Amino acid sequence: MRAVVLTGPHTHAVRTDIPVPRPGPLEVLCQVDSIAICGTDIHIYEGRFPGRWPRAYPFIPGHEWSGTIVELGPQADEFGWHVGQRVAGTSHAGCGYCRMCRIGRYNLCDLYGREPLHHQYGHYSQGADAEYVVHSIKSVVALPDAIDLPLGAMVDTASIALHSVKRPGIEPGDTVVIVGAGPMGLLCADCALALGAGRVIVTGSGERLDRAAGLGFTTINYQTQEPAAAVRELTDGRGAHVAIDTGGTAASIRQAVDVVGKGGRVAFTGVPTGGDSALPLQKIVLEEIDLFGVRANRNTMEEVLPLIVSNRVRVAPLVTHTFRLEDYGEALRTFAERVDGALKVLVKPGAGEPA
Ligand SMILES: [Zn+2]
Ligand SMILES: [Zn+2]
Repeated sequence: MRAVVLTGPHTHAVRTDIPVPRPGPLEVLCQVDSIAICGTDIHIYEGRFPGRWPRAYPFIPGHEWSGTIVELGPQADEFGWHVGQRVAGTSHAGCGYCRMCRIGRYNLCDLYGREPLHHQYGHYSQGADAEYVVHSIKSVVALPDAIDLPLGAMVDTASIALHSVKRPGIEPGDTVVIVGAGPMGLLCADCALALGAGRVIVTGSGERLDRAAGLGFTTINYQTQEPAAAVRELTDGRGAHVAIDTGGTAASIRQAVDVVGKGGRVAFTGVPTGGDSALPLQKIVLEEIDLFGVRANRNTMEEVLPLIVSNRVRVAPLVTHTFRLEDYGEALRTFAERVDGALKVLVKPGAGEPA
């Protein structure tokens, strides 16, 4: 089959001689329709997690994808899966037996990295930037008819946004600040509204912030306004109830803590790869600020589907570009450098698909 193969930091090849993987017990083989590129893909491509993601080269990346089941491994049918079913994939497949898995926090599986009991597809297990991929049935959800296959590649990202706003909790009427107007920021903003936020404020800059305004959110441009002061002004001096950082930089993490008021809750999504952030510890203690780490998603794939179907979580406006698998390098560059206002960039491994 054809697949994108990372051969070292910053290098890849599109190969045509990769064997089609075989589904084991409780796994499905899927023909991949679309893969969305995410920020973590860029970091993996750059080799920022040496020896971890990936563990070794060559490696097939890609973890936000949609496709169709073409073969069932043993016993997958016991759970209702069938050939021809349209699915969306997600990266974590916990062991199912450790304590973290048993309490539903399989994204924190104690057996992380111990194949075949655990997988994280596209991180250290084979990913979906290929014509075919094998996934555990734990890591696919059936797509409703109302979601077409290319948009199915957005379900994983949307489910991470939902998990990101569920971690700090949204109370009815809360003011929520989303730090960052990229795809994750805009999805978190929609998820916060869906969970009952009274008002969602997005901070960012440039074209992306304009897009957030176009989607109906109050916006703050951090290049021309001081975000904490601007949020206080919008909230009668109180600050926000909740902030979600989607930037993962020292500055964005600090901004998220700065914009909440007393008793505020702050969640951090996206893996920070920069230096440590200097957090305002006196504020965190004296104002009883709660901090929440967010690692990918758990159990929110099914939950986000009806929100996408009812258009309360709007994924279609975020897909700005589509490339063939052969043009993977160009797709990565378009996403990373935000070429032509790129938000989410899809890659299609199907033969003869238009660019
Ligand atoms: Zn991702
Ligand atoms: Zn586990």
